[in-house]
Amino acid sequence: MSFAELGLIPELLRAVEEAGYTEPTPIQRQAIPVVLAGGDVMGGAQTGTGKTASFTLPLLHRLSRHASTSTSPARHPVRALILTPTRELAMQVFESVRTYSKYVPLRSTCIYGGVDMRAQVAEMRTGIEIVVATPGRLLDHVEQRTIQLGQVEFLVLDEADRMLDMGFIPDIRRIIGLLPQQRQSLLFSATFSEEIKKLADSMLREPQLIEVARRNMVSETISHIVHPVATSVKRELLAKLLNDGTADQMLVFVSTKFGCSRLARHLEKEGISVDAIHGDKGQQQRTEALEKFKAGETRVLVATDVAARGLDVDDLPCVVNFELPPNPEDYIHRIGRTGRAGKSGRAISLVAPEESGRLSAIERMIKIKVIQELVPGFGPDTRPEELPRSRRPRAGAEGGSSERSAGERHPDRSSERSATERPPRPPRARHTPGTVAPDGFDFSRPYAESSTEGESGATPIDPAMSPPAKSRSVAFLLGGSGKQ
Ligand code: AMP
Repeated sequence: MSFAELGLIPELLRAVEEAGYTEPTPIQRQAIPVVLAGGDVMGGAQTGTGKTASFTLPLLHRLSRHASTSTSPARHPVRALILTPTRELAMQVFESVRTYSKYVPLRSTCIYGGVDMRAQVAEMRTGIEIVVATPGRLLDHVEQRTIQLGQVEFLVLDEADRMLDMGFIPDIRRIIGLLPQQRQSLLFSATFSEEIKKLADSMLREPQLIEVARRNMVSETISHIVHPVATSVKRELLAKLLNDGTADQMLVFVSTKFGCSRLARHLEKEGISVDAIHGDKGQQQRTEALEKFKAGETRVLVATDVAARGLDVDDLPCVVNFELPPNPEDYIHRIGRTGRAGKSGRAISLVAPEESGRLSAIERMIKIKVIQELVPGFGPDTRPEELPRSRRPRAGAEGGSSERSAGERHPDRSSERSATERPPRPPRARHTPGTVAPDGFDFSRPYAESSTEGESGATPIDPAMSPPAKSRSVAFLLGGSGKQ
Protein backbone atom coordinates (compact mmCIF):
# COMPACT_ATOMS: atom_id res chain seq x y z
CA MET A 1 0.00 0.00 0.00
CA SER A 2 1.22 3.52 -0.81
CA PHE A 3 0.57 6.80 0.98
CA ALA A 4 -1.41 7.95 -2.09
CA GLU A 5 -3.82 5.03 -1.63
CA LEU A 6 -4.57 6.30 1.86
CA GLY A 7 -6.17 9.33 0.22
CA LEU A 8 -3.94 12.03 1.68
CA ILE A 9 -3.87 15.40 -0.06
CA PRO A 10 -1.07 15.95 -2.63
CA GLU A 11 0.67 18.53 -0.42
CA LEU A 12 1.17 15.87 2.26
CA LEU A 13 2.18 13.20 -0.24
CA ARG A 14 4.87 15.50 -1.52
CA ALA A 15 6.24 16.14 1.97
CA VAL A 16 6.18 12.42 2.79
CA GLU A 17 8.04 11.63 -0.40
CA GLU A 18 10.65 14.24 0.40
CA ALA A 19 11.06 12.69 3.86
CA GLY A 20 12.05 9.52 2.01
CA TYR A 21 9.14 7.33 3.08
CA THR A 22 8.12 4.89 0.39
CA GLU A 23 5.28 3.10 2.14
CA PRO A 24 3.26 3.53 5.32
CA THR A 25 4.24 1.55 8.43
CA PRO A 26 1.63 -0.81 9.96
CA ILE A 27 0.40 1.76 12.50
CA GLN A 28 0.12 4.34 9.71
CA ARG A 29 -1.83 1.95 7.47
CA GLN A 30 -4.29 1.29 10.25
CA ALA A 31 -4.62 4.67 11.96
CA ILE A 32 -4.62 7.08 9.01
CA PRO A 33 -7.95 5.91 7.46
CA VAL A 34 -9.69 5.98 10.85
CA VAL A 35 -8.51 9.51 11.65
CA LEU A 36 -9.34 10.72 8.13
CA ALA A 37 -12.89 9.40 8.64
CA GLY A 38 -13.18 11.48 11.82
CA GLY A 39 -12.93 8.62 14.33
CA ASP A 40 -11.24 8.56 17.73
CA VAL A 41 -8.24 6.26 18.12
CA MET A 42 -6.68 4.40 20.98
CA GLY A 43 -3.30 3.44 19.56
CA GLY A 44 -0.99 0.81 21.01
CA ALA A 45 2.41 1.60 19.62
CA GLN A 46 5.72 2.69 20.95
CA THR A 47 8.31 4.99 19.52
CA GLY A 48 10.05 3.77 16.38
CA THR A 49 6.90 2.42 14.74
CA GLY A 50 6.09 5.60 12.82
CA LYS A 51 3.28 6.54 15.19
CA THR A 52 3.98 10.30 14.97
CA ALA A 53 3.17 10.37 11.26
CA SER A 54 0.18 8.09 11.91
CA PHE A 55 -1.57 10.91 13.74
CA THR A 56 0.15 13.98 12.27
CA LEU A 57 -0.58 13.24 8.60
CA PRO A 58 -4.36 12.71 8.89
CA LEU A 59 -4.60 15.58 11.36
CA LEU A 60 -2.94 17.91 8.83
CA HIS A 61 -5.18 16.53 6.10
CA ARG A 62 -8.31 17.31 8.10
CA LEU A 63 -7.08 20.73 9.18
CA SER A 64 -6.04 21.67 5.65
CA ARG A 65 -9.53 23.06 5.04
CA HIS A 66 -8.60 25.85 7.48
CA ALA A 67 -5.22 26.53 5.87
CA SER A 68 -4.88 30.23 5.23
CA THR A 69 -2.11 32.62 4.35
CA SER A 70 -3.96 35.46 6.08
CA THR A 71 -1.81 37.44 8.53
CA SER A 72 -4.73 38.03 10.89
CA PRO A 73 -4.25 36.11 14.17
CA ALA A 74 -8.03 35.66 14.34
CA ARG A 75 -7.80 33.41 11.25
CA HIS A 76 -5.42 31.08 13.08
CA PRO A 77 -7.00 29.89 16.33
CA VAL A 78 -5.58 26.79 18.08
CA ARG A 79 -7.30 23.88 16.35
CA ALA A 80 -5.07 20.97 17.30
CA LEU A 81 -3.37 20.23 20.59
CA ILE A 82 -0.72 17.52 20.81
CA LEU A 83 0.40 16.73 24.36
CA THR A 84 3.64 14.91 25.10
CA PRO A 85 5.27 13.99 28.42
CA THR A 86 8.67 15.58 27.79
CA ARG A 87 10.24 18.55 26.10
CA GLU A 88 12.38 16.33 23.91
CA LEU A 89 9.41 14.40 22.61
CA ALA A 90 7.50 17.67 22.11
CA MET A 91 10.37 19.00 20.02
CA GLN A 92 10.58 15.81 18.03
CA VAL A 93 6.84 15.74 17.31
CA PHE A 94 6.97 19.41 16.41
CA GLU A 95 9.79 18.71 13.97
CA SER A 96 7.59 16.05 12.34
CA VAL A 97 4.63 18.45 12.16
CA ARG A 98 6.84 20.99 10.43
CA THR A 99 8.27 18.41 8.03
CA TYR A 100 4.87 17.08 6.98
CA SER A 101 3.15 20.49 6.86
CA LYS A 102 5.81 22.02 4.62
CA TYR A 103 3.33 22.55 1.77
CA VAL A 104 0.21 23.28 3.84
CA PRO A 105 -0.08 26.84 5.20
CA LEU A 106 -0.92 25.84 8.77
CA ARG A 107 1.02 27.36 11.64
CA SER A 108 2.50 25.27 14.41
CA THR A 109 4.56 25.80 17.53
CA CYS A 110 6.10 23.92 20.40
CA ILE A 111 5.49 24.90 24.02
CA TYR A 112 7.51 23.42 26.88
CA GLY A 113 8.85 24.41 30.26
CA GLY A 114 12.38 25.28 31.35
CA VAL A 115 12.61 28.26 29.00
CA ASP A 116 11.37 31.84 29.14
CA MET A 117 7.66 32.10 28.37
CA ARG A 118 7.88 35.42 26.56
CA ALA A 119 8.94 34.09 23.17
CA GLN A 120 6.14 31.50 23.35
CA VAL A 121 3.61 34.20 24.27
CA ALA A 122 4.73 36.39 21.36
CA GLU A 123 4.38 33.48 18.97
CA MET A 124 0.94 32.51 20.25
CA ARG A 125 -0.21 36.11 19.65
CA THR A 126 0.50 35.77 15.94
CA GLY A 127 -2.08 32.97 15.69
CA ILE A 128 -1.12 29.27 15.71
CA GLU A 129 -3.27 26.33 14.59
CA ILE A 130 -1.23 23.40 15.89
CA VAL A 131 0.28 23.44 19.35
CA VAL A 132 2.63 20.69 20.52
CA ALA A 133 3.04 21.06 24.26
CA THR A 134 4.04 19.53 27.56
CA PRO A 135 1.14 19.68 30.06
CA GLY A 136 2.73 21.87 32.77
CA ARG A 137 3.79 24.71 30.53
CA LEU A 138 0.52 24.59 28.62
CA LEU A 139 -1.33 25.14 31.90
CA ASP A 140 0.98 28.08 32.67
CA HIS A 141 -0.20 29.65 29.42
CA VAL A 142 -3.82 28.84 30.26
CA GLU A 143 -3.44 30.55 33.64
CA GLN A 144 -1.86 33.61 32.07
CA ARG A 145 -4.53 33.61 29.38
CA THR A 146 -1.92 33.54 26.65
CA ILE A 147 -3.58 30.58 24.95
CA GLN A 148 -7.23 29.97 24.07
CA LEU A 149 -8.38 26.41 23.70
CA GLY A 150 -12.04 27.05 22.89
CA GLN A 151 -11.69 26.13 19.21
CA VAL A 152 -9.66 22.96 19.55
CA GLU A 153 -10.94 20.26 17.17
CA PHE A 154 -8.18 17.70 17.72
CA LEU A 155 -6.56 16.41 20.83
CA VAL A 156 -3.63 13.99 20.68
CA LEU A 157 -2.18 12.45 23.82
CA ASP A 158 1.16 10.92 22.96
CA GLU A 159 2.87 8.36 25.20
CA ALA A 160 0.03 8.35 27.70
CA ASP A 161 1.72 5.63 29.78
CA ARG A 162 4.71 7.90 30.29
CA MET A 163 2.38 10.77 31.22
CA LEU A 164 1.02 8.51 33.92
CA ASP A 165 4.51 7.54 35.14
CA MET A 166 5.45 11.20 35.35
CA GLY A 167 2.34 12.17 37.30
CA PHE A 168 0.77 14.27 34.54
CA ILE A 169 -2.69 12.71 34.54
CA PRO A 170 -4.32 15.38 36.80
CA ASP A 171 -2.89 18.08 34.48
CA ILE A 172 -4.21 16.19 31.46
CA ARG A 173 -7.67 15.98 33.01
CA ARG A 174 -7.63 19.73 33.68
CA ILE A 175 -6.63 20.42 30.09
CA ILE A 176 -9.33 18.12 28.70
CA GLY A 177 -11.87 20.01 30.81
CA LEU A 178 -10.94 23.19 28.95
CA LEU A 179 -11.54 21.75 25.48
CA PRO A 180 -14.78 21.73 23.49
CA GLN A 181 -16.77 18.51 23.94
CA GLN A 182 -17.12 18.27 20.18
CA ARG A 183 -13.68 17.20 19.05
CA GLN A 184 -11.69 14.28 17.71
CA SER A 185 -9.31 12.65 20.18
CA LEU A 186 -6.42 10.26 19.77
CA LEU A 187 -4.51 8.54 22.55
CA PHE A 188 -1.25 6.68 22.01
CA SER A 189 0.42 4.50 24.57
CA ALA A 190 2.91 1.63 24.49
CA THR A 191 0.92 -0.17 27.21
CA PHE A 192 -2.64 -0.01 28.52
CA SER A 193 -2.88 -0.19 32.29
CA GLU A 194 -6.22 0.20 34.06
CA GLU A 195 -5.48 3.87 34.68
CA ILE A 196 -4.75 4.51 31.01
CA LYS A 197 -7.98 2.76 30.07
CA LYS A 198 -9.90 4.93 32.54
CA LEU A 199 -8.35 8.03 31.02
CA ALA A 200 -9.17 6.77 27.53
CA ASP A 201 -12.79 6.14 28.55
CA SER A 202 -13.12 9.71 29.72
CA MET A 203 -11.51 11.37 26.71
CA LEU A 204 -12.35 9.17 23.70
CA ARG A 205 -15.68 8.45 22.04
CA GLU A 206 -16.17 4.98 20.62
CA PRO A 207 -12.48 4.76 19.84
CA GLN A 208 -11.05 2.36 17.34
CA LEU A 209 -8.42 0.26 19.07
CA ILE A 210 -5.34 -0.01 16.89
CA GLU A 211 -2.36 -2.00 18.03
CA VAL A 212 0.73 -2.86 16.12
CA ALA A 213 1.90 -6.43 16.39
CA ARG A 214 3.79 -7.25 19.51
CA ARG A 215 6.82 -8.42 17.60
CA ASN A 216 7.38 -4.78 16.73
CA MET A 217 7.92 -4.03 20.40
CA VAL A 218 11.55 -4.76 19.81
CA SER A 219 12.79 -4.24 16.33
CA GLU A 220 14.14 -7.44 14.85
CA THR A 221 17.01 -5.49 13.37
CA ILE A 222 18.51 -4.93 16.83
CA SER A 223 21.10 -7.35 18.19
CA HIS A 224 21.21 -7.60 21.97
CA ILE A 225 24.27 -8.44 23.99
CA VAL A 226 25.05 -8.53 27.70
CA HIS A 227 28.54 -8.10 29.10
CA PRO A 228 28.50 -9.50 32.64
CA VAL A 229 30.71 -7.19 34.71
CA ALA A 230 31.20 -5.98 38.26
CA THR A 231 29.60 -2.62 38.97
CA SER A 232 32.94 -1.28 40.21
CA VAL A 233 34.64 -1.67 36.81
CA LYS A 234 31.76 -0.77 34.47
CA ARG A 235 33.19 2.61 33.60
CA GLU A 236 36.53 1.15 32.68
CA LEU A 237 34.79 -1.47 30.53
CA LEU A 238 32.77 1.19 28.73
CA ALA A 239 35.92 3.19 28.04
CA LYS A 240 37.57 0.04 26.70
CA LEU A 241 34.64 -0.69 24.39
CA LEU A 242 34.82 2.84 23.07
CA ASN A 243 38.59 2.76 22.65
CA ASP A 244 38.32 -0.59 20.86
CA GLY A 245 36.01 1.07 18.32
CA THR A 246 32.93 -0.97 19.27
CA ALA A 247 30.76 1.76 17.77
CA ASP A 248 31.26 5.19 16.23
CA GLN A 249 28.64 6.70 18.52
CA MET A 250 26.89 5.47 21.62
CA LEU A 251 23.86 6.62 23.53
CA VAL A 252 24.53 5.46 27.09
CA PHE A 253 21.72 5.13 29.62
CA VAL A 254 22.27 5.49 33.34
CA SER A 255 19.71 5.41 36.13
CA THR A 256 20.48 8.61 38.01
CA LYS A 257 21.35 12.22 37.24
CA PHE A 258 24.30 11.88 39.58
CA GLY A 259 25.61 8.79 37.80
CA CYS A 260 25.08 10.54 34.48
CA SER A 261 27.43 13.44 35.23
CA ARG A 262 30.03 11.24 36.88
CA LEU A 263 30.19 8.83 33.98
CA ALA A 264 30.48 11.69 31.52
CA ARG A 265 33.36 13.18 33.53
CA HIS A 266 35.11 9.82 33.64
CA LEU A 267 34.87 9.31 29.89
CA GLU A 268 36.04 12.84 29.28
CA LYS A 269 39.15 12.12 31.34
CA GLU A 270 39.70 9.12 29.08
CA GLY A 271 39.82 11.50 26.13
CA ILE A 272 36.41 10.55 24.75
CA SER A 273 34.16 13.35 23.47
CA VAL A 274 31.06 13.11 25.61
CA ASP A 275 28.04 15.08 26.77
CA ALA A 276 25.42 14.37 29.41
CA ILE A 277 21.73 15.13 29.48
CA HIS A 278 19.54 14.78 32.52
CA GLY A 279 16.70 16.56 34.28
CA ASP A 280 18.94 19.09 36.05
CA LYS A 281 20.39 20.42 32.83
CA GLY A 282 18.74 23.49 31.38
CA GLN A 283 16.75 23.15 28.20
CA GLN A 284 19.36 25.08 26.27
CA GLN A 285 22.12 22.73 27.40
CA ARG A 286 20.05 19.65 26.60
CA THR A 287 19.18 20.91 23.14
CA GLU A 288 22.80 21.82 22.42
CA ALA A 289 24.05 18.44 23.65
CA LEU A 290 21.52 16.66 21.45
CA GLU A 291 22.35 18.76 18.40
CA LYS A 292 26.09 18.13 18.82
CA PHE A 293 25.45 14.42 19.18
CA LYS A 294 23.20 14.36 16.12
CA ALA A 295 25.84 16.23 14.14
CA GLY A 296 28.42 13.62 15.18
CA GLU A 297 30.49 16.18 17.11
CA THR A 298 30.24 14.16 20.31
CA ARG A 299 30.80 10.45 20.33
CA VAL A 300 28.94 9.58 23.47
CA LEU A 301 25.74 10.98 24.92
CA VAL A 302 25.08 9.86 28.48
CA ALA A 303 21.43 10.19 29.43
CA THR A 304 18.83 9.34 32.02
CA ASP A 305 15.54 7.79 30.90
CA VAL A 306 13.50 10.93 31.41
CA ALA A 307 15.94 13.20 29.57
CA ALA A 308 16.20 10.78 26.67
CA ARG A 309 12.50 10.31 26.23
CA GLY A 310 11.62 10.92 22.62
CA LEU A 311 15.17 11.41 21.39
CA ASP A 312 15.21 10.82 17.69
CA VAL A 313 18.68 10.39 16.36
CA ASP A 314 18.81 8.97 12.87
CA ASP A 315 21.21 6.12 12.23
CA LEU A 316 22.17 5.63 15.86
CA PRO A 317 24.21 2.43 15.71
CA CYS A 318 24.45 1.57 19.37
CA VAL A 319 22.61 2.01 22.66
CA VAL A 320 24.35 1.04 25.90
CA ASN A 321 22.61 0.24 29.16
CA PHE A 322 25.22 1.17 31.71
CA GLU A 323 22.72 -0.05 34.27
CA LEU A 324 19.63 -2.03 33.43
CA PRO A 325 16.42 -0.10 34.12
CA PRO A 326 14.19 -1.35 36.96
CA ASN A 327 11.20 -1.33 34.64
CA PRO A 328 11.65 -3.70 31.67
CA GLU A 329 9.57 -1.40 29.49
CA ASP A 330 12.28 1.20 29.80
CA TYR A 331 14.69 -1.25 28.15
CA ILE A 332 12.38 -1.25 25.13
CA HIS A 333 12.11 2.52 25.15
CA ARG A 334 15.87 2.89 25.46
CA ILE A 335 16.84 0.54 22.67
CA GLY A 336 14.10 2.00 20.47
CA ARG A 337 16.70 4.67 19.62
CA THR A 338 18.64 2.22 17.51
CA GLY A 339 17.61 -0.14 14.72
CA ARG A 340 14.98 2.28 13.45
CA ALA A 341 13.16 2.10 10.16
CA GLY A 342 14.73 -1.25 9.26
CA LYS A 343 18.33 -0.25 9.97
CA SER A 344 20.50 -2.53 12.05
CA GLY A 345 21.36 -1.54 15.59
CA ARG A 346 23.04 -2.86 18.70
CA ALA A 347 21.90 -2.88 22.29
CA ILE A 348 24.77 -3.49 24.70
CA SER A 349 24.06 -3.96 28.41
CA LEU A 350 26.68 -3.94 31.15
CA VAL A 351 25.13 -6.20 33.75
CA ALA A 352 26.39 -6.69 37.28
CA PRO A 353 25.42 -9.82 39.27
CA GLU A 354 22.97 -7.85 41.38
CA GLU A 355 21.07 -6.90 38.21
CA SER A 356 20.28 -10.49 37.24
CA GLY A 357 16.63 -10.09 38.33
CA ARG A 358 16.24 -7.09 36.04
CA LEU A 359 17.82 -8.98 33.16
CA SER A 360 15.44 -11.92 33.58
CA ALA A 361 12.44 -9.57 33.60
CA ILE A 362 13.66 -7.93 30.39
CA GLU A 363 14.27 -11.27 28.71
CA ARG A 364 10.78 -12.40 29.66
CA MET A 365 9.29 -9.28 28.18
CA ILE A 366 11.23 -9.23 24.92
CA LYS A 367 11.05 -13.05 24.62
CA ILE A 368 14.72 -13.21 23.81
CA LYS A 369 17.44 -14.92 25.79
CA VAL A 370 20.19 -12.39 25.34
CA ILE A 371 23.71 -13.49 24.43
CA GLN A 372 26.13 -13.06 27.32
CA GLU A 373 29.72 -12.36 26.45
CA LEU A 374 32.50 -11.78 28.93
CA VAL A 375 35.02 -9.17 27.91
CA PRO A 376 38.37 -10.66 28.96
CA GLY A 377 39.64 -8.92 32.07
CA PHE A 378 36.21 -7.49 32.97
CA GLY A 379 34.16 -10.16 34.68
CA PRO A 380 31.41 -10.02 37.25
CA ASP A 381 34.04 -10.64 39.95
CA THR A 382 36.72 -8.27 38.70
CA ARG A 383 37.94 -5.73 41.21
CA PRO A 384 39.37 -2.38 40.11
CA GLU A 385 42.84 -3.30 41.41
CA GLU A 386 42.89 -6.31 39.07
CA LEU A 387 42.65 -4.14 35.98
CA PRO A 388 45.82 -3.30 34.06
CA ARG A 389 47.44 -0.29 35.74
CA SER A 390 46.48 2.07 32.91
CA ARG A 391 42.80 1.19 33.31
CA ARG A 392 42.60 1.39 37.06
CA PRO A 393 40.68 4.23 38.63
CA ARG A 394 43.16 6.54 40.30
CA ALA A 395 43.23 6.56 44.10
CA GLY A 396 40.85 9.20 45.35
CA ALA A 397 39.40 9.66 41.88
CA GLU A 398 35.72 9.05 41.34
CA GLY A 399 35.43 5.46 40.60
CA GLY A 400 34.98 1.97 41.75
CA SER A 401 31.85 1.21 43.61
CA SER A 402 31.01 4.88 44.12
CA GLU A 403 29.47 4.83 40.65
CA ARG A 404 26.67 2.67 41.96
CA SER A 405 23.38 4.36 41.41
CA ALA A 406 20.92 5.25 44.15
CA GLY A 407 19.05 2.23 45.34
CA GLU A 408 21.66 -0.31 44.25
CA ARG A 409 23.09 -2.53 46.93
CA HIS A 410 26.70 -3.44 47.31
CA PRO A 411 27.49 -6.59 45.45
CA ASP A 412 27.98 -9.68 47.52
CA ARG A 413 31.58 -9.82 48.76
CA SER A 414 31.74 -13.50 47.83
CA SER A 415 31.61 -12.53 44.20
CA GLU A 416 34.94 -10.73 44.52
CA ARG A 417 37.07 -13.46 43.05
CA SER A 418 39.73 -13.08 40.46
CA ALA A 419 38.40 -12.97 36.94
CA THR A 420 41.49 -14.80 35.80
CA GLU A 421 40.42 -17.92 37.72
CA ARG A 422 37.88 -18.58 35.07
CA PRO A 423 38.19 -18.49 31.28
CA PRO A 424 35.60 -16.39 29.48
CA ARG A 425 32.45 -18.29 28.72
CA PRO A 426 31.73 -18.82 25.06
CA PRO A 427 28.74 -16.78 23.90
CA ARG A 428 25.45 -18.56 24.09
CA ALA A 429 23.37 -19.06 21.01
CA ARG A 430 20.85 -16.30 20.62
CA HIS A 431 17.24 -17.20 20.65
CA THR A 432 15.82 -15.70 17.53
CA PRO A 433 12.14 -15.05 17.96
CA GLY A 434 10.17 -17.25 15.62
CA THR A 435 6.46 -16.88 15.13
CA VAL A 436 5.59 -18.93 18.19
CA ALA A 437 7.78 -18.67 21.28
CA PRO A 438 8.63 -21.71 23.41
CA ASP A 439 6.01 -20.61 25.92
CA GLY A 440 3.36 -20.62 23.22
CA PHE A 441 3.18 -16.89 22.65
CA ASP A 442 2.43 -16.07 19.05
CA PHE A 443 4.48 -13.07 17.98
CA SER A 444 2.63 -12.67 14.73
CA ARG A 445 -0.60 -11.73 16.52
CA PRO A 446 -1.30 -8.24 17.78
CA TYR A 447 -0.77 -8.23 21.49
CA ALA A 448 -3.88 -9.11 23.34
CA GLU A 449 -4.99 -7.86 26.72
CA SER A 450 -4.00 -11.04 28.52
CA SER A 451 -0.53 -10.97 27.10
CA THR A 452 0.21 -7.46 28.26
CA GLU A 453 0.45 -8.54 31.87
CA GLY A 454 3.70 -7.34 33.20
CA GLU A 455 4.00 -4.63 30.59
CA SER A 456 2.33 -2.16 32.88
CA GLY A 457 5.06 -2.61 35.43
CA ALA A 458 3.43 -5.58 37.08
CA THR A 459 6.17 -7.95 35.98
CA PRO A 460 7.27 -9.90 39.00
CA ILE A 461 10.82 -8.65 39.06
CA ASP A 462 12.91 -8.03 42.07
CA PRO A 463 13.21 -4.28 42.14
CA ALA A 464 15.75 -4.43 44.93
CA MET A 465 18.07 -6.31 42.60
CA SER A 466 18.85 -8.90 45.25
CA PRO A 467 22.47 -9.84 45.34
CA PRO A 468 23.20 -13.42 44.40
CA ALA A 469 23.41 -16.13 47.03
CA LYS A 470 26.97 -16.80 48.10
CA SER A 471 27.11 -20.36 46.93
CA ARG A 472 26.00 -19.72 43.37
CA SER A 473 28.56 -20.23 40.69
CA VAL A 474 29.16 -17.54 38.11
CA ALA A 475 27.86 -19.81 35.38
CA PHE A 476 24.61 -20.08 37.25
CA LEU A 477 24.42 -16.32 37.70
CA LEU A 478 24.78 -15.93 33.98
CA GLY A 479 21.88 -18.20 33.39
CA GLY A 480 24.18 -20.94 32.19
CA SER A 481 22.91 -23.79 34.32
CA GLY A 482 21.93 -25.88 31.39
CA LYS A 483 18.97 -23.94 30.05
CA GLN A 484 19.83 -22.38 26.71
P1 AMP B 1 8.16 7.47 15.43
O1 AMP B 1 7.70 6.10 15.81
O2 AMP B 1 7.06 8.37 15.06
O3 AMP B 1 9.06 8.04 16.50
O4 AMP B 1 9.05 7.34 14.09
C1 AMP B 1 10.26 6.64 14.06
C2 AMP B 1 11.12 6.99 12.85
O5 AMP B 1 10.56 6.41 11.68
C3 AMP B 1 11.25 8.48 12.57
O6 AMP B 1 12.62 8.75 12.36
C4 AMP B 1 10.44 8.71 11.30
O7 AMP B 1 11.01 9.73 10.53
C5 AMP B 1 10.54 7.37 10.60
N1 AMP B 1 9.33 7.02 9.80
C6 AMP B 1 8.04 7.29 10.07
N2 AMP B 1 7.23 6.81 9.11
C7 AMP B 1 8.02 6.21 8.20
C8 AMP B 1 7.77 5.50 6.96
N3 AMP B 1 6.55 5.33 6.51
N4 AMP B 1 8.84 5.03 6.29
C9 AMP B 1 10.10 5.19 6.77
N5 AMP B 1 10.40 5.84 7.93
C10 AMP B 1 9.37 6.34 8.64
